[in-house]
Amino acid sequence: MNPITYTRAADPAAATQELSASPKTRLLGGGTNLLDLMKMGVETPDRLVDVTRLDLAKVEELPDGKGVRIGALARNSDLAEHPLIKERYPVLSEALLAGASPQLRNMATTGGNLLQRTRCYYFYDPAFAQCNKRQPGSGCAALEGYNRIHAILGQSSECIATHPSDMCVAMAALDAVVRVQGPKGEREIPFAEFHRLPGDHPPTDPTHHHHHLLTAVHQPAAPWAKKSHYLKVRDRASYAFALVSVAAALETEGGKIKTARVALGGVAHKPWRSHEAEEKLVGAEPTAENFKLAADAAMKHAKGYKYNDFKVELARRSIVRALGNVSGTQVV
Ligand code: SF4
Repeated sequence: MNPITYTRAADPAAATQELSASPKTRLLGGGTNLLDLMKMGVETPDRLVDVTRLDLAKVEELPDGKGVRIGALARNSDLAEHPLIKERYPVLSEALLAGASPQLRNMATTGGNLLQRTRCYYFYDPAFAQCNKRQPGSGCAALEGYNRIHAILGQSSECIATHPSDMCVAMAALDAVVRVQGPKGEREIPFAEFHRLPGDHPPTDPTHHHHHLLTAVHQPAAPWAKKSHYLKVRDRASYAFALVSVAAALETEGGKIKTARVALGGVAHKPWRSHEAEEKLVGAEPTAENFKLAADAAMKHAKGYKYNDFKVELARRSIVRALGNVSGTQVV
C-alpha cells in the first residue's frame, strides 16, 4: 500500500507551492483519469492536492471582445452547454459532447481534459513490461503489438500513442491559449505548444513544468468559428475514444474559402493541426474535389503500423466528410 497525504489547496499559489514540494504530488480535480491510473498502479502519488474548491470554474467574456475565458475547473458538461460556447464555438461544444459519457462529463474538468494521458493499453497495464512512456528505456510493445488505436502521424520509434481528448482537437483548431501559474506567476502557452510529440522521451506529455497549475484556457475571438463542426468516428456510438476525429471550420467570401481550420484527433500523440490541409483550402472553392486534395495533403506523411493502417484512409474520408458537413457541400 502507498501512503498518500491529502490536502486541499486554499488558492492557486498554495497549489503551486504544494506541487513544488515533491515530484510525486498530483492535483486532484475531477479525478476521472488520475484515479483510473492510480487504481492500475500507473500513477503512485505520495501527495494529492485537492483543487476542486479553487475559484477557477467560471466561463466568461474576456474584455474588449477578445474572446472567452474558460476556467480550468469548468466541467466538460457545463462548458459544452454554455451559451457563449454553443453560439461562438460550436465545434468545441460538439467535441465536448462527443467525449466520454454524461456521468464522466459531469465530473471531468477543462484542465484535466488537457492533461489526460494516453489510453494506450500497454501504458495502462503494468503487466506489460515494455512501455517507454511508463518505464523509460523499456521499449514500446505497441510497435509490434496490437496497435489499432495508435498514431499514424508525428510518432517516433519510441512511442506511437495517441492523445485521447476530443475537446483538445477543437481547441487546436481554434488557436486556444493555455494559462498556467508557476512559482514566478502566470504565463501563456499557445495551444500548439502545450502538448508535445513523443520524440525520444515519451514519458512527458505537456510541455510545461510539473510545478505549474493550469488556471484557464483563453479562446480568442474568432467570428469564422460560428461555422465549425466536429466529426468523430469510433467503434460505438457512445463512450468510446476516437479512431479518427476532425474539427473543421470554414469561412467563405465571394465563393472562395477565406479561412480554414482542420485539426485531427485519434491520429497523433497530440491534437494534430493540419496546416497542410488548410493551405490547400484557402483561396479554393468549397468543392468535394478540393476537400479531397486537402485530405490528401493532410495524410501525405501518414504511416500505419499494421492494425491501424485503416486509419490513413479513414482520416482522409473523415476530413472530406467534416468539410462537407461544415460547408453544406455534397461530398459523396
Ligand atoms: Fe507505451 Fe507509447 Fe508504446 Fe503505448 S505506444 S506502449 S504508451 S511507449
